[in-house]
Amino acid sequence: MDYTSPYFWLLFAGAVGFLVLRNRKKNGPNGLPPKPPVFRERATLLLSPLSKTTPLACLLDDQKKFGSFFQDKTPPALPHEPGCLCHVQEFTADTGLLFKGQTEPELGGQSDLGGLTPTERRYYKYRLIASHPQATKAQQSQFAELAQSLNLGTEFIEKIKTHLEEKL
Ligand SMILES: [Zn+2]
Repeated sequence: MDYTSPYFWLLFAGAVGFLVLRNRKKNGPNGLPPKPPVFRERATLLLSPLSKTTPLACLLDDQKKFGSFFQDKTPPALPHEPGCLCHVQEFTADTGLLFKGQTEPELGGQSDLGGLTPTERRYYKYRLIASHPQATKAQQSQFAELAQSLNLGTEFIEKIKTHLEEKL
């Protein structure tokens, strides 16, 4: 190999340039991993009002999202069963937010306890499932655990407990 030959250096520069470009492509323009592409798509959100008479199927599907981005592609036929008051709402799903672990802001919903914050509402729903006569033992313990994992004041927890123990 003739290191003084201009062809050698031309070839060398070409090889270095190729490697730099290839690396850039792999890591994005700032040397950072490329961002996943963002897609937006219409999706469906199922909502159920919460009460002590809400059927179990409605409680389990409440606030579930349906669409090609989600585990469940199409919403169930409504009503779920007699007593179902579920309805669906369209929204735009954004993969950019999904990748960051964020989904759309949680919507509050109607309940027989009036206005609840999203976390309070979630707690109430988990408790309703955990104490639902049709829930399996596994569901009961799973949702009781989920309820326990939420950070809520003892006052609110007592209020729900009393409410659930009251006869209809
Ligand atoms: Zn329903």
